[in-house]
Amino acid sequence: MPKTISEQNLLRLIDTLVNEGKRVIGPKAAGTMTLYEPLATGEELNLGELPRRSAKETFFPLCETILTYERDREGVRVTDVDPGAIPETVLVAARPCDVAAAPVLDSVFSWDYQDEFYLSRRGKTTIIGLACARADDACFCTAVGLSTNDTKGSDLFLTTLTGGGYRCDVITDKGMALLAAHGGLFAEGDGTPAPLAEPALGKLDLEKIKQWLDNHFEDPLWEEIAERCAGCGACAFLCPACHCFDINDEGGEKKGARRKSWDACGFGKFTNHASGHNPRDVQPQRYRNRIMHKFKYYVDKFDQRLCTGCGRCIRACPVGIDIAEILSAIGTRDQGPGTGKD
Ligand code: SF4
Ligand code: SF4
Repeated sequence: MPKTISEQNLLRLIDTLVNEGKRVIGPKAAGTMTLYEPLATGEELNLGELPRRSAKETFFPLCETILTYERDREGVRVTDVDPGAIPETVLVAARPCDVAAAPVLDSVFSWDYQDEFYLSRRGKTTIIGLACARADDACFCTAVGLSTNDTKGSDLFLTTLTGGGYRCDVITDKGMALLAAHGGLFAEGDGTPAPLAEPALGKLDLEKIKQWLDNHFEDPLWEEIAERCAGCGACAFLCPACHCFDINDEGGEKKGARRKSWDACGFGKFTNHASGHNPRDVQPQRYRNRIMHKFKYYVDKFDQRLCTGCGRCIRACPVGIDIAEILSAIGTRDQGPGTGKD
């Protein structure tokens, strides 16, 4: 049986979680933008627009220290950062395109290597998703197989009601535990859902796109797109599903830290080898990798796509490269012979 929660009680829930010592992250006004940020009170929740950056930072921060070192007369002391020290977290009012990226990221962070930092944050986070009531020209979640009320990745899921407040669906045991612990803030019933957003781009033929990519590792399309690409990496940094990172030692002879920081396959030095050789030394090869990784390699490996159609890369690209347009164009291309090696 679904429950409902009033707007006021949602803010109270946030206050209560903060008072319990939990890290609560949700959309918050930050200057002229909205960002997913830690909330100090429910009043800070700002549901006006899709946050500029994705929610992936909840599990995979832009930069984090994984160990520190110090050297003195007695030798070198290395101190590991304890991934278990990460606080219990509740991600509130996250959009379906952000939340759906979490199970996609889980696949790679628990594949050949168990990334304890990512997995500890994921394990300690309860996600309360929120259905989208508004879409802009860049949104295309429905074209990549999701929906504006997709519950994938959520533990609890809120849908705005016409009469105010939200319907709250329990999706997982974790969600049930959070609801049960704060049951007094919820009421029985389901209410009438307000109309959902309808992104303009219909369905993409994802099978056909995959087939074309399988056979067109070499194609003039890559030069056409990458002629414009500035290699700024904004698309990857804002994307909920991009997850490349680099590990660097920073500091000096006496002390320093090993840090894990975001990287992007659009950067010129991303694949630069210590020898100086760079297997992707021109931008078309790098942009091709971006599309291939999202719609071919990850599908081959995990049967998932690295794109939830959030549209952030489209909004942010300084030269107007539009991934939805590229995918639509690929979907209409002749499947005929190409060079499929990778
Ligand atoms: S590739 Fe672009 S549209 Fe797709 S999830 Fe990433 S930022 Fe969003
Ligand atoms: S945001 Fe645009 S210009 Fe920058 S790397 Fe991505 S596609 Fe290239």
